[in-house]
Amino acid sequence: MNHFEDRPGPSGVPELWCEGVRLSEIAEAVGTPVYVYSTATLERHFQVFRTALTSALPGRRILIAYAVKANPNLAVIRTLAALGAGADTVSEGEIRRALAAGVPAERIVFSGVGKTDEELVFAITSGVAEINVESEPELERLAIIADRLGRVPEIAIRVNPDVGAGGHVKISTGASDTKFGVSLSEARRLYARAAGMKAVRPVGVACHIGSQISDLSPMEAAFHRMRELVEQLRSDGLSVSRLDLGGGLGAPYHNSPDPPLPEAYAAMIERVLQGLDIDLAFEPGRVIVANAGVLLARTVHVHRRSDGRAFVVLDAGMNDLLRPTLYDAFHQVRPVREGNGAPPEPFDIVGPVCETGDIFAKDRAMAPVSSGDLVAFLSAGAYGASMSSEYNARPLAPEVLVKGDSYAVVRRRPTYEEMMAREILPDWQSQNLD
Ligand SMILES: *Cc1c(COP(=O)(O)O)cnc(C)c1O
Repeated sequence: MNHFEDRPGPSGVPELWCEGVRLSEIAEAVGTPVYVYSTATLERHFQVFRTALTSALPGRRILIAYAVKANPNLAVIRTLAALGAGADTVSEGEIRRALAAGVPAERIVFSGVGKTDEELVFAITSGVAEINVESEPELERLAIIADRLGRVPEIAIRVNPDVGAGGHVKISTGASDTKFGVSLSEARRLYARAAGMKAVRPVGVACHIGSQISDLSPMEAAFHRMRELVEQLRSDGLSVSRLDLGGGLGAPYHNSPDPPLPEAYAAMIERVLQGLDIDLAFEPGRVIVANAGVLLARTVHVHRRSDGRAFVVLDAGMNDLLRPTLYDAFHQVRPVREGNGAPPEPFDIVGPVCETGDIFAKDRAMAPVSSGDLVAFLSAGAYGASMSSEYNARPLAPEVLVKGDSYAVVRRRPTYEEMMAREILPDWQSQNLD
């Protein structure tokens, strides 16, 4: 459930609202393209996810570390931090964002296959809860750095349980031929090696097998393997107090059967972990934020070509929302004001960017729109703004957060001067400009 609904506007015509604010009002005030997020939806999704886990797994210590990369806006992180969320981060920038948004260091997990020395120094000195080590060379570098700093960071070994899952090859991370983590047998050796080091303290094992997972069985298989690994490590005489099961639960995008509910996910985990005494961590991203956001765009014009194809050309492009181009992802696209009664027609919905790939949907049935009409991309809260770029020298779309009857611009659109201000002409060129 989310808080984007059709309700009558001032003239009685139904239109799409976010909580108590009309999306058309935001588009007029802030301009398009613009991302709009719903506080009530963010809160609801986090609470549903947490309640599912705490009810199915009573008495366990559970850290829910929101995967910042899904939507790193400070106001979004802060909304979740206020409910007690931790943060799963994959760069120094994300750790800094989590801290700035009020996530305490002891609830921050640092993941990623290529953490630089500088990033490890920053994570250790910030006192993050757990560094998820993805390889032996990383463990070695981490131990040297921690020793130099005189600190003993708590680490988990990221395991690749060799289970393929996820909605698309480009978001599947748990198969053995991806770059993520170490194999189960390697994890056993690495954990023992880390336990013998004075500079790090291994406390757990971690996995994350993919994203937009719509079927629980690969996850269940992976989690069984993780449980066996914990038991093996313990029988090797090693202490293992934490199991990080990653993120990956899918969000409904309304083009296929809905993914499993958090309740089913939690029940599966309870089944797998029965009788195993261990603290748990989760790293959900998409399932929390995807349906808490929309991207609003305006129709530049409708191009009905003589060969019969009809293009709805929008002022949002692949630089604003990359998922359809990158992952063939489906987003429901609809006029903000539907209900002119005209039957849907097939359109190619495209952006203005000079790339063939700048297409959001092909032959998509949609109620006809005209130049100037607003459309909304639904389920755009995850991996939308976070993947956007200034390709074609297009300013980053601003972001707006709604709460009840109010809204605030939480990232403003940069000016063209700001976009150019970071670039510096070399002396030999700037002299010529005088
Ligand atoms: C991307 C990522 C997540 C979040 O994935 P979702 O599918 O958005 O839940 C969690 N953990 C790690 C390590 C990730 O890379």
